Amino acid sequence: MRFLIAGNWKMNGSRPMLAELDRIAEAAAAYLTVEVAIAPPFTLLADAGPRAGKVLIGGQDCHPAAKGAHTGCISADMLVEMGARFVICGHSERRAEFGENDALIQAKATAAQAAGLVAIVCVGEDEPERNQGRAVTVVAAEIDRSVPLASTPENLVLSYEPAWAIGTGRTPTMAEICEMHAMIRAKLIQLLGEEGARVRILYGGSVNPANAAQILACPDVNGALIGGASLTADSFVPIVNAAADIVR
Ligand code: PEP
Repeated sequence: MRFLIAGNWKMNGSRPMLAELDRIAEAAAAYLTVEVAIAPPFTLLADAGPRAGKVLIGGQDCHPAAKGAHTGCISADMLVEMGARFVICGHSERRAEFGENDALIQAKATAAQAAGLVAIVCVGEDEPERNQGRAVTVVAAEIDRSVPLASTPENLVLSYEPAWAIGTGRTPTMAEICEMHAMIRAKLIQLLGEEGARVRILYGGSVNPANAAQILACPDVNGALIGGASLTADSFVPIVNAAADIVR
């Protein structure tokens, strides 16, 4: 299974920031065992595509409907038209800021897959849920409700992102990450049959050049979703390099 190292630029960047993409694309060209992806703001998609080389370009969100009266929204087909290959569905910031729930996220992922995109479906507990010992149960329930049942390893990536670890510099212990990813693997097999064994599972939450090698070495961690450290090539490329150094 190829590693996937995906960057989420969130609401950051205007055209000059595409110089970072140029450098990321140069580094990504060297690797066969690592797939690299960047989700810039919608406004940069059109300009990013021609400069991305082997880097997959994608959206940070999409609407479940194909078109219609949904002011401010973007459909999966519109992303495809801009050269997107994937879309992030249900990032914890969308869940928290915009009240997105599992049913909506499942609908978005279904629309994305129907349009030919890879859906990166995000799940993860918040801090009280972790402290109450409920993290595994919460994440299992989110997967049950947000993963489209017709998903395949080709059109689904699952990203485990504990909300309390995003942008905080804090991460779960390695044992906690490995335990969660093992549960997610079992859950995907339960939902999707043996194809679930080939769905890539990313870890996201304060991944940086210093901790990437250790996190990526965990069995069933098949890559990472990266926010802050994806904003510059200087901090993102070492994470890509760390993935390339791991032989499985
Ligand atoms: C994210 O937003 O998905 C994320 C993991 O952010 P950060 O790497 O900044 O914690």
